[in-house]
Amino acid sequence: MGEKIIDPQTLEQSFDMFCDIANAFAPCMNDYLYVYNLTQDIYYISERAMSRFLLPDNVFHNVVDTLRTFTHPDDMDMLAEDLDLVISGKKDYHNLEYRWIGRDGSPIWINCKGRILRDSQGVPHIMMGCINEIGNKQKADNVSGLLGESSLHDNVLRLLPTLTDAMFLRIGIDDFKVVNERHGMEYGNFILREVANRIQHCASPQQQVYRIVSDEFMILDLSGADYAEMNRLYHRIRSSVDEIVATEQYKALYTISGGLVALKDVDTSESDYSRYSEIMKVSEFALTEAKLRGKNQLYYFRPEDYSAFLRKRYIRSCLRKSLSDDFRGFDLYFQPIVMANGEFLFAAEALLRYETPMGEKITPLEFIPILEESGMIIPVGRWILRNALEMCRRCREFHPEFMISINFSYIQLLKSPVYEDVMRALEEADLPPSCLIVELTESGRLESSATIQNVWQKLRAMGVNIALDDFGTGYSNLINIGNLRPNIVKIDRGFTAKALQNSYEYDLLLHVIKMVHSIGLNLVVEGIESRRDLMQITAMKPDYIQGYYYSKPCPGEEFLRKFHPSGSRTKM
Ligand code: C2E
Ligand code: MG
Ligand code: MG
Repeated sequence: MGEKIIDPQTLEQSFDMFCDIANAFAPCMNDYLYVYNLTQDIYYISERAMSRFLLPDNVFHNVVDTLRTFTHPDDMDMLAEDLDLVISGKKDYHNLEYRWIGRDGSPIWINCKGRILRDSQGVPHIMMGCINEIGNKQKADNVSGLLGESSLHDNVLRLLPTLTDAMFLRIGIDDFKVVNERHGMEYGNFILREVANRIQHCASPQQQVYRIVSDEFMILDLSGADYAEMNRLYHRIRSSVDEIVATEQYKALYTISGGLVALKDVDTSESDYSRYSEIMKVSEFALTEAKLRGKNQLYYFRPEDYSAFLRKRYIRSCLRKSLSDDFRGFDLYFQPIVMANGEFLFAAEALLRYETPMGEKITPLEFIPILEESGMIIPVGRWILRNALEMCRRCREFHPEFMISINFSYIQLLKSPVYEDVMRALEEADLPPSCLIVELTESGRLESSATIQNVWQKLRAMGVNIALDDFGTGYSNLINIGNLRPNIVKIDRGFTAKALQNSYEYDLLLHVIKMVHSIGLNLVVEGIESRRDLMQITAMKPDYIQGYYYSKPCPGEEFLRKFHPSGSRTKM
């Protein structure tokens, strides 16, 4: 084996001594030193590791179980297996790349190396070594000639205790990936170098420039500049980068975006290390926001935008969980649609409800756009279709002409085979196409593409009814009546409310109803809340009425109880 044998007593003494030495060296090194006393099951690591990793303490007992609390769960088996070999004396070196969990909960790749010292009987007694981070730890960058993220990290941590009004301007090259793909890595490197030079040239001596990831730079301003000055700096850099593009005779077209963060806007409640990682997180958010808003611009970080972003991310992850847990948390409510002449139940609109795994009820206005943006509306839409048709089938047992109205978002139409889905669901529920009303929400966002016209035509040809939802809002207008040829137009409750409040809008609604009837379509007025509303609106002779006056949307079982009559037509 060849390693030096140390007697147990010296080992015990060297353990304490090693801890002192490791502590003394810590400020001069980026790595973390550790000693693991295998016989006493005690682990010591440089104190500095406490601010980086989710360690309970820098000295702990019950080592393998404690390691479990801050080692990435996917890596724990591999680590435990290796430590088993060490402890049982089958191995003299430990050398593993795996992940610990950072203080902010994110995984951090480490390389843990250690050598095992045995006692005079050859029993493994102490493992000592060093842990270094292997992910994204660049001190300096040879392409741009700038310092790297690791230096930014060290400098910010050093400065934070005395900093109050620093600014962080994160700059990213827009569409850099495309430049690299079209013109090759070498030209990409040339651009990185040029942009780095221009940024440095525009920055003052009290503004430090770093290259933090592939096409992103950070300017740390220590001059006390305010927003206006940083905005001017960004624009100077932007013009300067435009000059490179022009000098290169527009060989590659790219712009730069900037995310500006004032230190005072970053959460200050945590330790310096968490503050640093918070700065990096919000500056990344700020730069992404500038790009989302159209690129080639500066976005100034506002905590309220970040809260909205975090809230959206939280809801998105709840929705994902629910989707993978057999749609737990989703529910369908039903609201009656009633015939205006005689107040008979005609149909029900299926309205989606959602409760997070933590029991928070979220409104459709908040979660439906998230389902749409993420594409989750497609599987959820199929779930809605199945469950709403099941409800229709049950209602038809006592009300044979009952119809079900289901909302479809434009994303579903663009991105999923709606016609096939609808036909399959009808077949499975053993229902005729005529029992279904497909409501198109936000139709104004639909371009009149041939695909959509085609889906519509096929659905109509099969006997499915088409309703244009939200009529009278920004999303739906006259053009859609021409393009989409619906059977039914649904007046948005915002329009109804205005018509109930002033005579101009009332006349407008009256003429809309006449116009819709004159081209042979039917019309639903939404948002009828009282007997008085009903009287005013029925005077205009719409075909159907929907609103809280008859019922708020309610769960399926409640709907069945409320509207279960004797006879084939339900008088309200
Ligand atoms: P919408 O399709 O226009 O649905 C009518 C909305 O008006 C429902 O809101 C309903 O609860 C509300 N409402 C009905 N009568 C009254 C009334 O008399 N007074 C008032 N103040 N409100 C009334 P909800 O359920 O919050 O849904 C909002 C929107 O979310 C829907 O508007 C629809 O665009 C969308 N949505 C709901 N469920 C689904 C779904 O399953 N799929 C899709 N794609 N969108 C859905
Ligand atoms: Mg609707
Ligand atoms: Mg509507």
